[in-house]
Amino acid sequence: MKVGIPKRYEGRKIDAHAHIGKFGSWAGLESTAEELVAQMKLYNVKKSALFYSDNDLVRQAVEKYPEQFVGYVWPNPNDGEKSTELVRRALRDWKFKGIKLHPLFNAFLPNDKIVYPIMEEARRFKVPVAIHSGHPPFSLPWSIGELAENFRDVTIVMLHMGHGHGIYIHAAINTARRLDNIYLETSGMPMHTKVKEAMDVVGENRVMYGSDSPFHEPAVEIDRICSAGLNERQLEKIFYQNALDTLGF
Ligand SMILES: [Zn+2]
Repeated sequence: MKVGIPKRYEGRKIDAHAHIGKFGSWAGLESTAEELVAQMKLYNVKKSALFYSDNDLVRQAVEKYPEQFVGYVWPNPNDGEKSTELVRRALRDWKFKGIKLHPLFNAFLPNDKIVYPIMEEARRFKVPVAIHSGHPPFSLPWSIGELAENFRDVTIVMLHMGHGHGIYIHAAINTARRLDNIYLETSGMPMHTKVKEAMDVVGENRVMYGSDSPFHEPAVEIDRICSAGLNERQLEKIFYQNALDTLGF
């Protein structure tokens, strides 16, 4: 163990995972576009990938803050053709630049055939697919790996890189190591050591910062990365350059 107080990285950032809207029930969270923009300013975040289950709310926010927000469409594959049509409309007409899938929230397995038409659209529009990871039974890294294996030319961002469970985090790293179309996003993942391990094992270009605001406070998410013992070049990559290169911002 290395003993020392980490210095916070003040450089520019891209947030690969942010929300606005209301998350009721157990979460009890809420935030507005204005609040998120103000928060981004505090932490020198230049752009955020924005998604929420109410896609219209995201569309309005992106129209209002085109410099700050990049819209991701959030379909529910259980809706069949309706979800594919939503994806097409968002990518073509609203100029959204990514797709978000939440297998746990919407109750489907990542590699289920109902997801394939959505992946075909991702391929056609050349946009990344960000997928929530870290909770059984629907969003485990191994299952996301099965999907990534079937769509090797589609960029998949594994959100939370396994989330709160050490075994899942290990699996996220191993799955991404095996499949180079998988990128890891760090929000909500508690182990600073795994940030460093992912950079070393998966690759310096394939790990990126995300806050998952308002679920997590950026200060905590940023400081965890700053505790990982990365050098200046690696910090610039994980906080900014990797998302810029990969997500097409
Ligand atoms: Zn989230």
